[in-house]
Amino acid sequence: METISAILGQTSFSHSNLEQLLQCTGEDKSNLLKKGGAVKDLFVGNKVYFRGLIEFSNVCDKDCFYCGIRKSNHIVKRYNLTDSEILDAARFADDNRFGSVVLQSGENSSPAFTDRITNLLTKIKELSNGRLGITLSVGEQTELVYRKWFEAGAHRYLLRIETTNQSLYKRIHPCDLLHDFNRRLDCLYYLRAIGYQIGTGVMIGLPFQTISDLADDLLFFQQFGIDMVGMGPYIEHSETPLYEFRHLLLPIQERFDLSLKMIAVLRILMKDINIAAATALQAIDPLGREKGIKVGANIIMPNITPGLYRNDYSLYENKPCVDEEPAQCKGCLDARIAMADGEIGYGEWGDSIHFLKKGNKEAI
Ligand code: SAM
Ligand code: SF4
Repeated sequence: METISAILGQTSFSHSNLEQLLQCTGEDKSNLLKKGGAVKDLFVGNKVYFRGLIEFSNVCDKDCFYCGIRKSNHIVKRYNLTDSEILDAARFADDNRFGSVVLQSGENSSPAFTDRITNLLTKIKELSNGRLGITLSVGEQTELVYRKWFEAGAHRYLLRIETTNQSLYKRIHPCDLLHDFNRRLDCLYYLRAIGYQIGTGVMIGLPFQTISDLADDLLFFQQFGIDMVGMGPYIEHSETPLYEFRHLLLPIQERFDLSLKMIAVLRILMKDINIAAATALQAIDPLGREKGIKVGANIIMPNITPGLYRNDYSLYENKPCVDEEPAQCKGCLDARIAMADGEIGYGEWGDSIHFLKKGNKEAI
C-alpha cells in the first residue's frame, strides 16, 4: 500500500487511492486537509463567492426517506413565499452585492409552478439590471422546462445525485418513477446539454453507505465533468423513515470529519471546480462552513430566506441560523470568512473556472 504522502504527490488517483485518502487519520489527515486548501488557493484563489439562498417553499411532491420536508411529514408547517417576498430577498442580495442568488424549494412540476419560476427569473433579472446570477435548485423537471428557465436567465442548476450507488439510492427513496435514479441522472445530462453550469453532490454518512461508495461518488463527479459540487453530512430527522436506521450511523463528529476529507479530496481531484461549504456542516460545528473553506471549498450560500419561514425548511434537525434575519447573517459571515483566511468576492458571479475553461463565456 502506498503512503498518504506518496498519493498526495500523484496527479491521478485510483479508486483505492481515494478510499485510502478518505480513511486517513492523524498527521496524514492534517496533510490531506492542508493540501486541499493549498490546491484551492493555487487554482481558484482565496476568494469566497456568495450565493444568497432563498428557500422559497417547503411544499414537496416527493417522499425521499431522509428529508424532513418530504410529502408524508404532516407535522411540518408548509409555506410558500409570495412573489414579492422572493423579489425582496433578491433585492437584498443585490443591494448587498452578493453576486448571485439560489432559488430552492421542494419539488413540483405543475405548469403553475414552472411558469411562476420563469416569471420570477425575468423579474429578478430586471430588478438587478442583470447583475444577479441565478442558480436554481428545484429538482427534476422536463428538458423543455429546464430550457425555458435557461432562456429566462437561470444559468446554474444544483441537482444532487445523493449517492451514485444505485442500490443505496433505492434504499433511501420510495421505489417508483418519481424517485428513479436514472431519471435524476438524465436530468443532469439535459442540464449540461442546454448549457447550464451543473452542480451535483451527495450526502455523506448515510446509513448503509461505505467508503467505497464515496470514492465512487468522487469518480462520478470527475467522469461527468461536473462544474460545481455541494455535498455535506447526512443529518437524521426524527420524522423520516431513515431515522429507524440511526443506530447504523457514524457518530456525528465522524460524519463531519469525513465531509471535510471529501471536500479536500475532491479539490485535489478536480482543481478548478466550485465547491460549496454546505450549511449542514454548520449544523454540526458552529465553524463548520469556515472549516470547509479552509480545506478546499470556495462557495458559501448564506440563507436570505425571511427569518419567519426558516424554521419550517427543516431538512434535518438543528439547522443553524433559523432565527436570524438576512442582515444579521451577512455581518456574521464577513467576520467568519476573514477568520478562514478568505476574501469575499463581493459583486462577482464567481463562475466555475472549470465551466469557463470548456469554452463557455464568462457571465459578468
Ligand atoms: N427538492 C430539491 C431536490 O431534492 O433536489 C431541492 C431541495 S432539497 C431539500 C436539497 C438537498 O437537501 C437534497 O438534494 C439533499 O441532499 C439535502 N437533504 C435533504 N435531507 C437531508 C438530510 N436529512 N441531511 C442532509 N441533507 C439533506
Ligand atoms: Fe423533496 Fe428535495 Fe426533500 Fe426529496 S430532498 S423530499 S425532493 S425537498
